[in-house]
Amino acid sequence: MSVRAGWRKSLGASLEVELGYRADGTGSATLTGQIDETSDLSPLGDVKGSLVLDLAAVSYVNSTGVRAWVRLLRKLRSNGTAVSIRRCSICMVMQMSFVEDAKARVASFYAPYSCARCGADGEPELVDCTTHRADLAAGRFPTRQCPRCAVVMSPDEDPESYLLFLSE
Ligand SMILES: [Zn+2]
Repeated sequence: MSVRAGWRKSLGASLEVELGYRADGTGSATLTGQIDETSDLSPLGDVKGSLVLDLAAVSYVNSTGVRAWVRLLRKLRSNGTAVSIRRCSICMVMQMSFVEDAKARVASFYAPYSCARCGADGEPELVDCTTHRADLAAGRFPTRQCPRCAVVMSPDEDPESYLLFLSE
């Protein structure tokens, strides 16, 4: 498969991908929707060289979807394609931390925080793995302030298990 810029395709009943090239020539794929038993990720496995996967809009993944994801990573690895994930959504972080074979290199991810004072759940916060390398290596979420009352928010997940995906 040759990859053209702006190539858009349905990969299942509720999953879409937009493929393109970034300025530095690496391939990029933005996934939107749910990865489940109707998803076919195999077209992405043909991307050669390097591939940046944006997972911010992956809202749900089930166990069948995770198997499809693992197969995709295996195929890309066997092609020698360097995979990097950016803006990894919370549901994908959970799978990658829980399923050893689902791990891949992550450049940035979303983390859930809430405020103990005002109860605000807040939007998931984007965490850059390079900027916050020290916090993440120490097994903690970077400090974030509540947008309403400015106190430091707490992680909604246990950082130790949530961050297991980083041990790729
Ligand atoms: Zn608050």
